[in-house]
Amino acid sequence: MAKGSIGVTTSNIFPVIKKFLYSDHEIFLRELVSNAVDATQKLRTLAIAGEFNGSTDGLTVSVSVNKEAGTITVSDNGIGMTAEDVDRYINQIAFSGAEEFLNKYKDTAGAIIGHFGLGFYSAFMVADKVEIRTLSFKEGAQAVSWTCDGSPEFEMTDIDKAERGTDIILHVSDDEKEFLEENRIEGLLRKYCRFLPVPVVFGKKKEWKDGKMQDTDQDNVINDVEPLWTRKPADLKDEDYINFYHAIQPGQDDPLFWIHLNVDYPFNLTGILYFPKIKNNLDIRKDRIQLYCNQVFVTDSVEGVVPEFLTLLQGVIDSPDIPLNVSRSALQADRNVKMIAQHITKKVADRLRDISKNDHDAFEQKWNDIKIFIEYGMLSDEKFCEQAMKFALLENIDGKFYNFEDYKTLVEANQTDKDGNLVYLYATDREAQYSHIKAAQDMGYDVLIMDGQLDIPFAGMLEQKLEKTRLARVDADVPANLIRKDDAKAVELTDAQRDLVSHVFSSQVPKQDKAEFMVNLAAMGENTQPVVITQSEYMRRMKEMAKFQPGMSFYGELPDAYNLTLNSDHRLIKAIVNDAETALADSLKPIDDEIAATDNIVNALRDLDKDHKEGEPDHKEEIQHNEDRLAELRADREGKIAQFAATQDRVHQLIDIALLSNGLLKGEALSNFLRRSVDLL
Ligand code: ADP
Repeated sequence: MAKGSIGVTTSNIFPVIKKFLYSDHEIFLRELVSNAVDATQKLRTLAIAGEFNGSTDGLTVSVSVNKEAGTITVSDNGIGMTAEDVDRYINQIAFSGAEEFLNKYKDTAGAIIGHFGLGFYSAFMVADKVEIRTLSFKEGAQAVSWTCDGSPEFEMTDIDKAERGTDIILHVSDDEKEFLEENRIEGLLRKYCRFLPVPVVFGKKKEWKDGKMQDTDQDNVINDVEPLWTRKPADLKDEDYINFYHAIQPGQDDPLFWIHLNVDYPFNLTGILYFPKIKNNLDIRKDRIQLYCNQVFVTDSVEGVVPEFLTLLQGVIDSPDIPLNVSRSALQADRNVKMIAQHITKKVADRLRDISKNDHDAFEQKWNDIKIFIEYGMLSDEKFCEQAMKFALLENIDGKFYNFEDYKTLVEANQTDKDGNLVYLYATDREAQYSHIKAAQDMGYDVLIMDGQLDIPFAGMLEQKLEKTRLARVDADVPANLIRKDDAKAVELTDAQRDLVSHVFSSQVPKQDKAEFMVNLAAMGENTQPVVITQSEYMRRMKEMAKFQPGMSFYGELPDAYNLTLNSDHRLIKAIVNDAETALADSLKPIDDEIAATDNIVNALRDLDKDHKEGEPDHKEEIQHNEDRLAELRADREGKIAQFAATQDRVHQLIDIALLSNGLLKGEALSNFLRRSVDLL
């Protein structure tokens, strides 16, 4: 028997390991099983190198739990260790055995998991005593046992052990008893070891027999030793990919597309990324890509490794080149990781372009499902955006799809304004904006449907990317002004008439919370609606963008600003102008005369003060007095107009119809409208 102390300088490393090395105690199992898998892989490597002549059939790792004894055992029939090996690899913990091994067998040992550092010692996170029983593959080797109770002291003795390989026996500590539950261990094995390259056995398969679950004589193999991503794409069928998807993402619809990644230069990376079918917002989760390192599960939080927008995808990525036990910020700064992220982006874009070219119909059909990924990618990743400009699609209200170039060709002739800007018209709601869509179509314009969650910021991005192109929602202006052409028709009313009719309407718009209406006039032709409500593209979009960008909340608080445009060509508006003029002529005349006179006085006084010098008397007071009077007169005038307007059912009816067609007529205003409509019948 030998006693000794472990070759680290700190006298008590274990509390450190326990507390700080890994926050997740459960990963001890991953570490031990990885070591065991390593040990079997090493034996294979030695066999290939001709340094081991025995059989490498039946290499396995098995895990068992003994609740009574309070132990967990991880066994393998790999290379095992001699006493010197234990001394070197286990006692001198600063010395990484895997590293030495890798140096020696650089070319053949690619699959060795040498990545996890202090792996073995993680056992002390859950055990207060750990025992190693091991027999080296070397001819004539003596089996040894090593035990350590978590102090820096260990014991080593010769033992009888017939089978080659290593058993690691953990005496689980009192506060980690949960790990003695079979379900817990099986769950962990399925999480971390599901795709390890050597069979990992956990007891026997069970079946329902004689009224209870009983062991069969078949091994319960946890893992698939050759997961799909490690196989050649040429050997795989769609069905294989779909089945694998369902195995890793149970309970999901079939994926839309997948991308099989297979890179070996300048770094190693394999994997399969799936575009999931997203049913609703709740479905969007960012922990659906699993990261593996040589088939050992590492994490499913891949931020920093995979470009942000691709975290919406699902699947697996396996790379020995991603540093694993480093902080997230170090990971994000890692050069390798950056290159990997870029490469994945490029692959995804290439694949999408291929599909859009070679399988155009399928691409169109699936566009609405994948567009959220692509728009997100275009908005967040400049490089991806560049590539996606070639395959991204626009959909119009009739369900036809166009790539950017074709769409430009389609609308160029009819939708270029007088300044040479292309105007793309869009709707965000077929039903609510129906009348505006129809009006735009009547002008021969094409209307896009942009009702996706990211379409608003996407519209902004398009304006930046596409040359001399502006996007306007169909209700951003009256049809004639949506795309301003040279031949815009003038309003045939005098200034006084304009003023009068504007006040008639503005005084009668029902007051609404968080909404403001500006009345104006346009000559829209006899056959267009008499009153049209529109909403400025700029303000509306700023408000909508505020939802996406925290810094813009100021815009979000502003009321909605609407334009209520009166069609000066319409007979009803003309009639209202006439009626108002006639009805108000007498009562407005004296007020208007006084306004004109007062106005003259103010102007004359201002003229007198124009060359006023410091210290000399001026007319400020008099001007102020007259201006107050003017304000009074105007208020009086507006009051008179409002009084008249209040009696005009036609005015109310016209306003309400316009509100109604924009979904803005609600509550009391709506019920007033209904009552008035019946009365008018
Ligand atoms: P790492 O695996 O990163 O080198 P570990 O602390 O997990 O660090 O293991 C140290 C060394 O102990 C390994 O490199 C290996 O040489 C040896 N070792 C651990 N477990 C086994 C095992 N089951 N069979 C053979 N050797 C092992």
